[in-house]
Amino acid sequence: MTPPRNSNAVRDIANVLHPYTDHRAHAVNGPLVISRGEGVRVFDDQGKEYIEAMAGLWCASLGFDNKRLVDAAYRQMQKLPFYHGFTAKSHEPMIDLAEMLIERAPVPMSKVFFANSGSEANDTAVKMIWYANNAMGRPDKKKIIGRLKGYHGITIASGSITGLPANHKMFDLPVSDRFIHVSTPHHYHGANPGESEEDFATRLAEELDQVIQREGPETVAAFFAEPAMGAGGVIVPPATYFEKVQAVLKKHDVLFVADEVICGFGRTGSYWGSQTFGITPDILVCAKALSASFLPISAVMVNDRVFQALADGSATIGTWGHGFTYSGHPVPAAVAVETLKIYDEMDIVGHAKRVGGHMQKTLRARFADHPLVGEIRGIGLVAAMELVADKATHRNFDPGAKVGPRLAKLAEGEGVIMRAMVNDSMGFSPPLIITEAEVDEMIARVGRALDALTVQLR
Ligand code: PLP
Repeated sequence: MTPPRNSNAVRDIANVLHPYTDHRAHAVNGPLVISRGEGVRVFDDQGKEYIEAMAGLWCASLGFDNKRLVDAAYRQMQKLPFYHGFTAKSHEPMIDLAEMLIERAPVPMSKVFFANSGSEANDTAVKMIWYANNAMGRPDKKKIIGRLKGYHGITIASGSITGLPANHKMFDLPVSDRFIHVSTPHHYHGANPGESEEDFATRLAEELDQVIQREGPETVAAFFAEPAMGAGGVIVPPATYFEKVQAVLKKHDVLFVADEVICGFGRTGSYWGSQTFGITPDILVCAKALSASFLPISAVMVNDRVFQALADGSATIGTWGHGFTYSGHPVPAAVAVETLKIYDEMDIVGHAKRVGGHMQKTLRARFADHPLVGEIRGIGLVAAMELVADKATHRNFDPGAKVGPRLAKLAEGEGVIMRAMVNDSMGFSPPLIITEAEVDEMIARVGRALDALTVQLR
């Protein structure tokens, strides 16, 4: 049946240029239009209910309704709907939020800069590092190391640090040879036969060391890493990886930027992913769960060494020429302050650890032996289930077969929204408020979709 001309689907196809979408396929298949939300569930414009297994984009930490956050936004809009931080202006929500983040930081941090998205925050971190090294009198120390399959956003600089082909191909990224990538710390695909996690980690740290030596340590400024990789397929690093990587970085005076855009605020079972993996970052970037994604806001925390360099540089010029109109916007900042209060009150870390443990255990119990499932990995409330063509050799399906996207579509039919990432890795990153019973329901629905896929592939 052709949809009516005024339907959401028809109007969408006619007018919307979608992020992360195959535009030609979209013109045929159309959108899934989500109309409202309730707890961990969303409802489409036909009234069908779905458990949101990805919390939208790893971000709706408190689910899809929360009166306290709505009230916080409303109160702030009535009191002061806009102000900014340029030329030393300020306002209370920005001050409160900066103070709360400094108090909660995993290592001593000096100052917080606000932006609107993870990409902007990572671009800001790159510019801070370049500026700081100029101010410190080492203008050649500018190269940035990312990792293949790392995800740091899609702007010119953050997209250059990202290590995923779809973000580079035809976009002319990385933008310059200042951006370098090292190997993905994924034991399942990257380790040699019989290589332990520890030995694999040693090999990766040696590779990093060799890359820095090759480029010249005096030219390498920073290493960007997600504590656990998200969009690259939820890759939890092998044991001892960050300990060994940080020793190499220290030796060459290379800054560590922890991209906590997904991992921050309890996702991995600690407040920060940096704590879960023993990382001591010089710069920490966060977003998404910072405001439970009710409004856009991101933050860049810098330690005192970085701040002093920025301050010295700005004093020579008379300003630090960086900032967005909406940096620290009072309404998202007020919502973020309320979000952090809610996290404290509900013991978000304890909850994520407990329910995350249940999710990890149940996913493995239910799917590990399934013939299509190669690896189930994750930590806390983030996980991936990787589908493979050959369980013994870890061989993936031909990407053209779109096995992962097919499972995602079948899951939609069963009432669960999940995401197919590279190598048909199916992501789980539900709202942090999810209960054990809701986890069970989500996994049961995915199980029915996987059964249907198995029949299709026979
Ligand atoms: N960094 C990480 C780890 C992310 O997962 C993302 C988005 O998913 C980003 C940065 C980019 O954030 P945004 O999409 O808000 O620009």
